Amino acid sequence: MRDVTREQIHLYLDNALTEAEASRIEQAIRASSELKQLLRSILAERDRGEHSVGAIWRRGHLSCPSREQLGAYLLRALDDDLFDYIRFHLETIQCPYCLANLDDLRSQQIEPQPKIKSRRQRIFESSVGLIKPPAPRR
Ligand SMILES: [Zn+2]
Repeated sequence: MRDVTREQIHLYLDNALTEAEASRIEQAIRASSELKQLLRSILAERDRGEHSVGAIWRRGHLSCPSREQLGAYLLRALDDDLFDYIRFHLETIQCPYCLANLDDLRSQQIEPQPKIKSRRQRIFESSVGLIKPPAPRR
């Protein structure tokens, strides 16, 4: 089942397809380990090349977003292109490394408020100790 070409995957990654065509390709990739493999090799090629999307990922591990980018993804604080790419990386490629990373980030974000407060308090208290008035001079 080779009804998705290399070119189409490139176009897909460039967001240059219609909505319908893009979702057809996404589903085809999801359903085929052969296409997933092809996608990975295309991503690796793009990563090495001068492609603009590749340039974004070059800093990361292969095609993986950085931890900072994953954090920004959780906060929805990314450009649409980058957001879509990371969502694709997580949901379609299901990169185990990034999924684990994301879980970790998520658990840190859901850290309960009191804990944050008490940490702030600790910092405050410890700096209070530092600003004792100087001993009077004679
Ligand atoms: Zn990854």
